[in-house]
Amino acid sequence: MIFLFDVDGTLTPPRQAMADEMTTVFREVLATSKVFLASGSDLKKIKEQVPADILSKCDGIFSCSANQFHIGGELQYENQFIPDEKLVEQLEKLIEGSPYSIRTGNHIEYRPGMINFSIVGRNASMAERKAYSKWDEKNQERKRMAVLLMAFVPGLDIKIGGQISIDIYPSGYDKSQAVNYLKKSYPDEPIFFFGDRTDRHGNDYSAAQALGSKDRVFPVRNYLKTQELLKFYLQGGDLCLTNQLVTNLMQKYTMKNYVNL
Ligand SMILES: [Mg+2]
Repeated sequence: MIFLFDVDGTLTPPRQAMADEMTTVFREVLATSKVFLASGSDLKKIKEQVPADILSKCDGIFSCSANQFHIGGELQYENQFIPDEKLVEQLEKLIEGSPYSIRTGNHIEYRPGMINFSIVGRNASMAERKAYSKWDEKNQERKRMAVLLMAFVPGLDIKIGGQISIDIYPSGYDKSQAVNYLKKSYPDEPIFFFGDRTDRHGNDYSAAQALGSKDRVFPVRNYLKTQELLKFYLQGGDLCLTNQLVTNLMQKYTMKNYVNL
């Protein structure tokens, strides 16, 4: 069996470092099992949240929504997304035409396998982010832009993430790549995937969807739930037996293989 964990919100509190008790529990898991991480963040951010000795003991780390993959610090693959000119022009038009008046710079950020796009700009201060986020909630600008861009460029996935931006990437350049890689590399091993955003709009959804019939998904509310399940596992518990809610969840998400909540 292989463990695959989302990082932020699943192994750590949101945007914070891994808590002390979790580091102890996780080190024990690493000593007994194959462990992979699949984060939406880049490796630099993951290193800020997870202690170095833990990262070095993981069997592999998928970063940037599995558009990058490292084993033992060595890059195994990296996806590039080079958008066509028409898309970039369209994004520039949106920056010019938005009724939101503040622009802070760094509106189109190129990352491995995707573009991160923001009207207010990634140089926004905390206060500027909050202000845009509040305005966007009322005016639904990001949602409207997502709909427009999807119609404009077929074959792209657009995801509203964080407070101020949207992610634009070719369909399939998401965390499903981590699951598909593990299925190929370990065809006989079930994958146990833990994520805090396996809901339809969350960034763990694509990974959960890519799982096969012998795999399991654990949609945890927060890292404390993950910690509780891992402790149970380390004491010899069968994680597959923690699924009293499986039927409800299957109805909720119309997905197979849901275990616990
Ligand atoms: Mg998460």
